[in-house]
Amino acid sequence: MVYEAEGPVSESNADGGRIVILGASGVIGRELVALCTALGRPYLAISSWDIDLSGPGAAEALGARLAPADSIVLLAAVPPDIDRGAAGLLRNAEIARATAAAARRADIRHLLYLSSDGVYSAQDGAVTETSPVAASDCYRAGHLAREAIVRADFLPERLCIVRATQIYSRHDSHFAYGPCRFARDLAAGRRIALFGAGEERRDHMSAEDLVRIVLDLSDQGACGTVNAATGRSVSFAELAQRMLSLVGRDSEEVSSVPRRQPLFHRDFDIARLTALLGPFQFEPLERGLARLLVAARSRQEPMAGARPAVFLDRDGVLNENLVVDGKPYAPRRFQDFRLYPEAATAIVKFKAAGFATVVVTNQPDLGHGLIEPSQLQAMHAYLERETGVDAILTCPHRQDEGCGCRKPGAGLLVRAAYTHNLDLSRSVMVGDRASDVAAGRDAGCRTIFIDRAFRETRSMPKADIVVGGDEGLDAAAEIILRDVAREP
Ligand SMILES: [Zn+2]
Repeated sequence: MVYEAEGPVSESNADGGRIVILGASGVIGRELVALCTALGRPYLAISSWDIDLSGPGAAEALGARLAPADSIVLLAAVPPDIDRGAAGLLRNAEIARATAAAARRADIRHLLYLSSDGVYSAQDGAVTETSPVAASDCYRAGHLAREAIVRADFLPERLCIVRATQIYSRHDSHFAYGPCRFARDLAAGRRIALFGAGEERRDHMSAEDLVRIVLDLSDQGACGTVNAATGRSVSFAELAQRMLSLVGRDSEEVSSVPRRQPLFHRDFDIARLTALLGPFQFEPLERGLARLLVAARSRQEPMAGARPAVFLDRDGVLNENLVVDGKPYAPRRFQDFRLYPEAATAIVKFKAAGFATVVVTNQPDLGHGLIEPSQLQAMHAYLERETGVDAILTCPHRQDEGCGCRKPGAGLLVRAAYTHNLDLSRSVMVGDRASDVAAGRDAGCRTIFIDRAFRETRSMPKADIVVGGDEGLDAAAEIILRDVAREP
């Protein structure tokens, strides 16, 4: 299971039964709907507009819409920012009671309840599923009550309780302390404010990863209680530095405000999750953070003076690859660096049409020590001189370094947008690899794929426009200048 995968998450699907998503209009619910849609999975999305699960007659209304092959994913909840008190607790308990009653009567295949790591008490060491829990306030008590209710009222061999770590999502508009708030502050040009020195460690997971886990557990018919976390915690101070680095403000200091809560760390033991799913390839933290920064920037309206850009992959788009056994390789010597004849003319045309032109290129040969830095510098000086391109942004890292700039992440595009004031939603990414398309999509850009029929090891995200390999940049330029440049 790889995070780039756009294909089926699991082959062991539930006999064609539907995923019934309760709480489909929430942040996680929308992400799960998007995943089911992308996978072509049958689902039934139910939000509080359809059925008020805490209201009278909810179990009957829900039961009437269920079939035995269905699997429920229960996400519906009164969020803590609406009601953290006793009324919220009782309504949340009622949602669980109605859901379990309807599920039992309809004899459905599986019920997955998304709980929270908030049920665990503050403790030293990594949290496991048997760590002590604490109902220290109504919000935590609500989660524990719901766990107890679904355990009491539904069949244990068809029930899975997922205790999720802190989840971040580009759709989140609560801006709780953490990645979403930091992204909002950076997009507004403000400093990040940390409580104390930001020492607390937390395990941050993207909503995209969470719904893949949820769907996989549901498909498997997993039972029992399982923590959903990445197993890697970082401090808020480190999180802030990583986000500053993504937007090119590496040297900036963060500000500090007095701590309001007692300091505690949260680390997870994810042995049970790994035992159930096998090794799960979580997306790199920076890839998710880059998406948050894109979303935060797009909320900043209006973006005064922000220009659209054409982002261009380098090898295979502007210059020839060396192709060996159907696989493309970047040139390692300046004398092997050959620009396509159309590169310079295309860039001149993009600039005349008002686009910034930015080359975004992975050069892992640098990190592997396979190319002399002076050779790469010579190539890029030549590229700038011959084409007049505005900027060349390079990821010099190996894949195993887990950096924030390597495509398929959007890090290079995000850095360009924040440092050169670019409007990503009006920009285009042109590339000849799956990772280029993925980076462009993560950045919210239009994507043009130049199909040179390479053997790709990763599955191909869907590009907005595909042009043939022999048409190359000329065809891409024609489309950009004809269609994209004319739009308001
Ligand atoms: Zn990098």
